[in-house]
Parts: sequence; structure tokens; C-alpha cells
Amino acid sequence: MKRLSLNLLDAEAAYYAWVAWEQEESREKHARRLRTRNKRRRIQAKLKELETYLGSRHCAAITQRGSPCKRTRRLQVDHVNGRDWTPRDLEYECRLNKYLAEAKSGVPLRWLCTHHNAVDGNDRKYGRGKYAA
Ligand SMILES: [Zn+2]
Repeated sequence: MKRLSLNLLDAEAAYYAWVAWEQEESREKHARRLRTRNKRRRIQAKLKELETYLGSRHCAAITQRGSPCKRTRRLQVDHVNGRDWTPRDLEYECRLNKYLAEAKSGVPLRWLCTHHNAVDGNDRKYGRGKYAA
């Protein structure tokens, strides 16, 4: 009988330990969700702010046929006069901060779709002059 009650106590202790662990887990999950949500909001706000400097979000390139590209998806920020840093070295939000700081200090930036940014980058790399835009 004594042994049984001891086991019951152990089971109870284990149960409460598990409840505490669960609560800790869900707190952690909740905190993580809040962090990512806040981050997403900060990023949205920064993109909006960037829009005030670079204009509405569409590709600024002129295609070879002479018509504007105007693509609105998968846009990247292009430095019209080139840059001396690698965007990939910075985390996304840091990169946005840097773009914002540059835009505020008057560095010419523009939106380019991934295609036209790649074309522009290749032309720069292989010395074919700047892509018309
Ligand atoms: Zn484009």
C-alpha cells in the first residue's frame, strides 16, 4: 500500500513536471510567433518606407523592344551606380536598413525584377556597359 501511494506521488510529480514543460513550450512557441509576426511587420513597414524613395514597386527597366518592364513580383533593389558591398553578407532586415539609409543619403536606387537585375549585373561584370533603363 505504501509502495503504491509512493508510485502515485511519483506519477503526480511527473505529471506536473510535464504540465510545466508543456506550458514552457507553449510560452516559447507563443514568443517565437510574436517575434516572427513583429519581424514581418517591421519588414513590411520598411518596404513601404523604401517605396517612398524608390517609387511604387515595379521593375524600372526598359526592355530591348523599348517598352517598360513593369514587373511587380520578385523585385530587387538595384544600385544604379554600382555598390561596394555584398547584399548576401547581410541579413534581410539589415539589408533593408542599409537600403533605407542609402536612399535617405541620396544614393540612386531603383527596383528591378530578378531578370533585369541579373542582365544588369552581367553587363556590368563583363563590361558591356550599363543596361538601358
Ligand atoms: Zn524587369
